[in-house]
Amino acid sequence: MICPRAVFITGANKGLGLEFVRQFLRLDNPPQQLFATCRDPENAVELRKLEDQNACVQVLKLDITCEADIKSAAREVESSLNNKGLNLLINNAGVTRKRQYVGNLNKEHLLEQFSTNAVGPLLVTQSLLPMLLKAAESRDTLVSCNKAAIVNISSILGSITESRSGGMYGYRPSKAALNMITKSLHEELKEKDILVTALHPGWVRTDIGGPEADMSPEESAKACLMVLSKLSKENSGRFLSYDGKMIDW
Ligand code: NDP
Repeated sequence: MICPRAVFITGANKGLGLEFVRQFLRLDNPPQQLFATCRDPENAVELRKLEDQNACVQVLKLDITCEADIKSAAREVESSLNNKGLNLLINNAGVTRKRQYVGNLNKEHLLEQFSTNAVGPLLVTQSLLPMLLKAAESRDTLVSCNKAAIVNISSILGSITESRSGGMYGYRPSKAALNMITKSLHEELKEKDILVTALHPGWVRTDIGGPEADMSPEESAKACLMVLSKLSKENSGRFLSYDGKMIDW
């Protein structure tokens, strides 16, 4: 069963991130503290409604490419946790610029995707690490998403082994970089009892997935939470799909 006490989610204003927030709130034991972050809280109407209706939700401003935002969000979380740890970080925010073939590359768009999909999640993780380490000290919980975990929402498009269709020179390599970051974090943090995983959420009907995608955000988030509920020390450091299957890096 998934029941982390404190959860932090990036890109929580829409799509999968917003649906993660909704589904955490529907758990039998919802988080006592749910830090739902987004770039523009003032215009995050749905998310703010959830904050008004649920005392555990705290909406914070966070552009994951902005170091000042990252530091300020980490300070707010630390103060709000009041010496308790952070159990689960979901690095969900991501960006894609679909039409990128070798003939029409745009350096700014390439860097934007690396900055958002790979560097951002790593810097957010760094800033929240002291709070994850605090949660990992707990002696009475096994390694799991209820204790201390970093979940990086990746994409099968970042798998080098599974790559078949070419193009997407910003999105694919930036998600491949996020996968490498996941593995490195796992190797660095495994002795500290922090679980780290990369998760492909399926092809989902969001702004990134488009209207033709296979799954609704509800279906995807539900399946992802099921996968997260089963993670343990044994399957940390892997690239998993929403159906629980392993994906080759
Ligand atoms: P959406 O476009 O609906 O959501 C993307 C989210 O990321 C938005 O909240 C967006 O905020 C946020 N975001 C983008 N850039 C930044 C930034 N610099 N700082 C903070 N937040 C940012 O797409 P999804 O919900 O589908 O995407 C969620 C994750 O799932 C992404 O990592 C994506 O790569 C991954 N994914 C999605 C798939 C799909 O089929 N949908 C398939 C595989 C992976 P804003 O509204 O401000 O732009």
